[in-house]
Amino acid sequence: MLLQDKVALVTGATRGIGRGVALALAAQGAHLVIVGTSEEKAAAFAAELEQAGTQALGVGADVSVAKDVERLVDSAKKRFGKIDILVNNAGITRDGLMLRMKDEDWDSVLDINLKGAFLCTRAVARLMTRQRNGRIINISSVVGQMGNAGQANYCASKAGLHGLTKSNARELAKRQITVNAVAPGFILTDMTEALSEQQRNELTTQVPLERLGHVDDISAAVVFLASDQAGYITGQIIGVNGGMYM
Ligand code: NAP
Repeated sequence: MLLQDKVALVTGATRGIGRGVALALAAQGAHLVIVGTSEEKAAAFAAELEQAGTQALGVGADVSVAKDVERLVDSAKKRFGKIDILVNNAGITRDGLMLRMKDEDWDSVLDINLKGAFLCTRAVARLMTRQRNGRIINISSVVGQMGNAGQANYCASKAGLHGLTKSNARELAKRQITVNAVAPGFILTDMTEALSEQQRNELTTQVPLERLGHVDDISAAVVFLASDQAGYITGQIIGVNGGMYM
């Protein structure tokens, strides 16, 4: 057990990568705070974890709304007294060519993907600095490193997360809090389900390892970064992308 009795808060944990990350952290002995936009779905997943023997709390919160984030962190603190691990995973896409992109599609992606990570980090880091330890892991994307036509808003939000990761790593290092990003390639989840089979096949041709990624590929990297074994790693962008970007 790498994370016995650690408390981990995972945003966007009701589905996809976040759900897989939460399950993997629980399997290593962590207690979980599950966050999604729907209180009902978050509570249902927390109940499922509790049944399997993990202490878990489900909270409905919009990570882009400061008041929601304060309430979320207060609830976590009341239930567990501390937060050791924060995984900023909540994210959305609103794709479209830049020349035709609507202001609201730009704003919602930046608000949830980037401002959400800032708000959660600010609220949780206040606890972590008092504890003088912590692990913050931001889930970005390979397209934040490479760019992608039709995703200017999403790529800007993920590249922004890389800047946030490095700045926060420098600010929080003296309190023994590490801040890293995991940048997934194309991973099979609801987000990529929206693509046609032809689009998925085309994507696969860009991947040297000749397959799309699985949620477990990402959770393995997150578990490692959350563990004591990764105590000397901070400010890094760990690509988990099958070699798409080197
Ligand atoms: P997903 O299946 O669409 O799940 C997104 C999760 O985020 C859901 O739990 C959703 O909650 C939550 N969420 C959305 N908006 C939120 C908000 N405002 N506040 C709180 N939670 C919110 O996505 P995914 O594919 O697992 O992706 C997870 C992360 O990995 C994202 O940051 C994404 O950008 C990144 N990523 C994914 C891929 C990929 O290929 N799938 C590749 C690179 C990076 P509800 O269920 O309540 O809506």
